[in-house]
Amino acid sequence: MKKRIGTALAMGLMLTACSTVSMTGRKQLNLISESEILTASLTEYQSYMKSAKLSTDAQATAIVKNVAARIAGAAEAYLRASGQQADLQNYAWEFNLTQDKELNAFCMPGGKIVVYSGMLNLIGNGADRDDELAAVIGHEVGHAIAKHGNERASQQMLANVGGSVLGAVVANKSQATQSAVAVAYGLGAQYGALLPFSRKQELEADYIGIVLATLAGYDANAAVTLWQKMAAASSSNTAEFMSTHPSSTTRIEQLMKDIPKVKQTYGPRPQTTKAATTSKSTKAATTTKSKGKTTTSKNGYKIG
Ligand SMILES: [Zn+2]
Repeated sequence: MKKRIGTALAMGLMLTACSTVSMTGRKQLNLISESEILTASLTEYQSYMKSAKLSTDAQATAIVKNVAARIAGAAEAYLRASGQQADLQNYAWEFNLTQDKELNAFCMPGGKIVVYSGMLNLIGNGADRDDELAAVIGHEVGHAIAKHGNERASQQMLANVGGSVLGAVVANKSQATQSAVAVAYGLGAQYGALLPFSRKQELEADYIGIVLATLAGYDANAAVTLWQKMAAASSSNTAEFMSTHPSSTTRIEQLMKDIPKVKQTYGPRPQTTKAATTSKSTKAATTTKSKGKTTTSKNGYKIG
């Protein structure tokens, strides 16, 4: 009986909790309300920030803040233009560079962006530094916009409780939400294994990431070189990020297919580009040289 009530409850929740991912239109199951996710995420973020060490490198911090602010601006513009203004109230952006050799970065629901110095070191100081940083941050903001945290915490919640005791969980939902969010984000080591994003969520974040990078005026080709760098850096430093962000040739192939289309749809038009386009296309040509033949799109970009 208890089990049946639990199952009915779970089904009811599922029926009311199905939402659609912005930008890709995929249906997802979000069992937790946005306000609950935001509260739990903020707690998790504050606890991380308390233990984290902010970078003392003012120049590197400024670089991260600048790129993150432009990606955040693009995300807001996109939400506004696609009739999702209501979602804007959920974002109170914060941008940080923390001193940590791990190759990691994240964007919590609500727009709390953190890049680890290890990630910035991997990117290096080349001409495509900001473009690659935009690819990382765009990808992480993509997870936030697509509400992957809610989806992942919902899956965690279901896995934790199963249908039979869901009623009890609902009675004490804020605590269940907090622990599900903690496991989904894995920021507190005490919660054990980190729950990885699914392949579907990863590809979705990749796609949204290149759209945001393009809208913000960056060269989306850098997403490819970034993941190539990630794959090549197979040291233990990559372990954490790679465990939640599995890299594969499939993802790079998908990006290479999507980038030209995204640039055409979201990229700057010739009459509005001026000098910025000239320098971007030069950069794009440089980054795609190693990938073989290049063609010129109508936006003036060199695309591979
Ligand atoms: Zn990811």
